[in-house]
Order: sequence, then C-alpha cells, then structure tokens
Amino acid sequence: MRRTLFESLIRRPLTEASPGADAVALAELASHVDRAARGRLGRSLSIRAVDAGSCNGCELEIHALSNAFYDLERFGLRFVASPRHADVLLVTGPVTRNMREALERTYAATPDPKWVVAVGDCAVDGGIFAGSYAVAGGVHDVVPVDLHIRGCPPSPTQLLKGLLALLEPAVASEASSTDSAPATS
Ligand code: SF4
Repeated sequence: MRRTLFESLIRRPLTEASPGADAVALAELASHVDRAARGRLGRSLSIRAVDAGSCNGCELEIHALSNAFYDLERFGLRFVASPRHADVLLVTGPVTRNMREALERTYAATPDPKWVVAVGDCAVDGGIFAGSYAVAGGVHDVVPVDLHIRGCPPSPTQLLKGLLALLEPAVASEASSTDSAPATS
C-alpha cells in the first residue's frame, strides 16, 4: 500500500500528451474561417455531436475523447447536449435522406459564429455509402463545412489534432492582441 502511494506521487499522469494541432486542418481553417469569428469563439469550445447516418464507428472514437486517457476537457473542449449551447457541430457519417432535415435544423439552431467539422471519410463525400439510394451526400452537400477530419474512422488522436486546430488560430489572434494592448499597472 505504501509503495502504491509513493508510486502515485512520482509517476507522471497516464493521460495522453497533447498531440498538437494538425497542420492540414490549420491550413483548411485559415482559408475558410474569418479571423474575427475565431477571436469571438475564444479558447473554449462547446461541441454538439450529430450522427447524420454513420455506422457508429466514428462515434466510438469520439466517445473515447472523453475518457481519462484522452481527457478532451483539459483543452477547454466539451460536449453539450443542445445545439443552442454549441460553437461547433461535429458531424459524422454520410448524411442520410432521413437525417438531412434534422441536420439542417440543428445547423439553424446553432448560434453564430459556429463551425462545422465533418468527421470520417463518409462525412466528406458519403464514403463507402456514396451512391446509396438512402444517402443525400457528404456533410458539405447539406450544410457548409469548415473542417474535415478524414479516416475510417479517425483515431482519437486524429480527432484531437483537428479539434485543437480550432483553438490554435484563436490562441494566435489572442496573443497578437495581447502584444498590441497597452500595458496596465
Ligand atoms: S468513416 Fe468509417 S467508421 Fe466512420 S461512419 Fe463511415 S464507415 Fe463508419
């Protein structure tokens, strides 16, 4: 028992180290999202996950973000239950015809400024379900998409890298505004 207690004091946390922001995601965001909106969203983002018709593989990886190993909330990112409280819609799957209206209404219910992140190959262009009579298309065929995180499914680390890219520009603009702000005593 004493040994366990001692080890818990000196051992580093088992939480995954921050993977850093994804360079490709940063480039995509830079070309899509205006700087003022990034500044308003700040360094803390609320995420509403929307399953628009996925096989649930992407959801399993998204769920893993909340476990103690990936611990999404230490970065200021958290999942919320309502689009009215969200800054980011995290959309998975091809958009099925049944879910098309639900996605449109969820997008409309999310206050501006907002970002849409399409997660998984299916969300990009329908993936392996493209061409099915039940599929309306990728997420961008229904609502505007700001960032794609590819993979089938993307790993939690890939998801984290993409989500951290959402925060990165805000950090940069915040730093530059701090640099230019007059010093206060
Ligand atoms: S990208 Fe892969 S894991 Fe995700 S919904 Fe499509 S088939 Fe499933």
